[in-house]
Amino acid sequence: MDCPLCQAADHVVGHVGEFILAGEAIRQETRICRACSLVFESAEPNLEWSSLYGSVWYRSSLPNAKQTELYARDAGLIGPPAHAGERVFDIGCGRGLLLDELSALGWVTAGCDPEADAIETARLKGHSVTAECFEPRPDFESDLVILGDVLEHVADPLSMLRDVRQILRPGGRFYVRVPDLEEVNFDTFGDVFGLQHRIWFTRDTLREALAFAGFEVCFDGKFARGMHAMARIQSPRAWSCPKGEPARSVEIVRNYSRDMAVRRARIASRLESLRGREVALYGGGEHAEELLRFSALGGIATRVVDSNESLWGNACGALTIETPAVLRDRPPESVVIASKAYQNEIAAGLEDLAERGVDVIRLYAESG
Ligand SMILES: [Zn+2]
Repeated sequence: MDCPLCQAADHVVGHVGEFILAGEAIRQETRICRACSLVFESAEPNLEWSSLYGSVWYRSSLPNAKQTELYARDAGLIGPPAHAGERVFDIGCGRGLLLDELSALGWVTAGCDPEADAIETARLKGHSVTAECFEPRPDFESDLVILGDVLEHVADPLSMLRDVRQILRPGGRFYVRVPDLEEVNFDTFGDVFGLQHRIWFTRDTLREALAFAGFEVCFDGKFARGMHAMARIQSPRAWSCPKGEPARSVEIVRNYSRDMAVRRARIASRLESLRGREVALYGGGEHAEELLRFSALGGIATRVVDSNESLWGNACGALTIETPAVLRDRPPESVVIASKAYQNEIAAGLEDLAERGVDVIRLYAESG
């Protein structure tokens, strides 16, 4: 495939991964375009993207303290409208959490999101929103357009940015927030190169991408692991590769890839030391399937357990997923926790087994 931004065919492969999706392994390469420095994923799974995002979106659309802080900060940067009656359109507005903040500042609020449940929640709060993927239409025209945590999911960013331009009223502004490639490392960011984020930017390459699509950045900055830019329309201009690129982006992706290989080798050797014992794997989801693929765990684990009722009886590798109750009835010698994000919570829930002499194993460092 060609670069989704500048269409060049000359890329460097920075990372090779494999993902389990609906039981199928999908090979993916994280590439860096030599012409424009865009970091992008090569895989094009033959699936509706919505099926890929479904479970993630549902989880992430729940407001938590981090999101509340993020949206309050976005609203602070955006500020109140210059004139009464100015309208904001939030593409991928979810439950309207940012629109809530902007409405309080005096904006007339509108948006769209493909997730119908989230849109219903936003609509009940008084926002003018519709359940659909974004396509530019005259009735979407606004003084401010927002793409928050959306652009990185788009396979064709140039079209998306041009579509944003189409619904901006004269003198209007565009606020975009994306994850920051410079914050990516395997220890703090986890498994990030994959199927869900299609593209990655540094602050410099985001500026260039915006200029290429016909936007001039008014201000930009970084926050937590993301970055934002406020832009206004200008004439599109030819691409110029930012200083130090694409070497910088290649280095970030390759460092991540190397660290991931090191951690996987460490996990594989930890698991190898369990061979011959009775080992239950706790967690039978995609993360467990990934562990089974890159380590010898398939030949080591004798049982798989998951607290998620809907997985009971399903296959995970060659094993059948059991209920946690079975662990208490018939404790194994060791339990390996397959989750990274919830390993501490799961370990706390297994304390009774640990007290009975079961070796409860967390594979990931506390910081990860
Ligand atoms: Zn390119």
